[in-house]
Amino acid sequence: MSECVFCKIVNKEIPSEIVYEDDKIIAFKDINPIAPVHVLFIPKNHIASLNDIDNENADVISHIFIKIREMVKELGISDEGYRVVSNCGALGGQTVDHIHFHLIGGRQFQWPPG
Ligand code: AMP
Ligand code: ZN
Repeated sequence: MSECVFCKIVNKEIPSEIVYEDDKIIAFKDINPIAPVHVLFIPKNHIASLNDIDNENADVISHIFIKIREMVKELGISDEGYRVVSNCGALGGQTVDHIHFHLIGGRQFQWPPG
């Protein structure tokens, strides 16, 4: 989608600090981090939100979770704990309509998040 900011990151039309990339997904540092580790994992194909996951695109979503698992080990936060979040829709706090999974770690988080 030409106006989507995360599609622009995928297409290298705007810069980002990429920490992982392959043919299906890309992971980059959040521009406004809320924790010492704050990385966004996205599919390269435009999927708007959790509401759009189906059997056709489920593979890329599971691929993202396997890469998150590898990344937390690489970053050394696997044992101390971390959080993965996907905000969906207006009430869920989604501000970019290209599905993304926040990996946040390196500090204590509370529950409920507020
Ligand atoms: P959400 O509110 O769940 O939709 O999260 C969107 C996230 O994207 C926020 O944490 C923003 O800081 C982040 N973000 C927006 N634009 C960029 C960008 N150009 N590069 C990196 N992160 C971004
Ligand atoms: Zn997009």
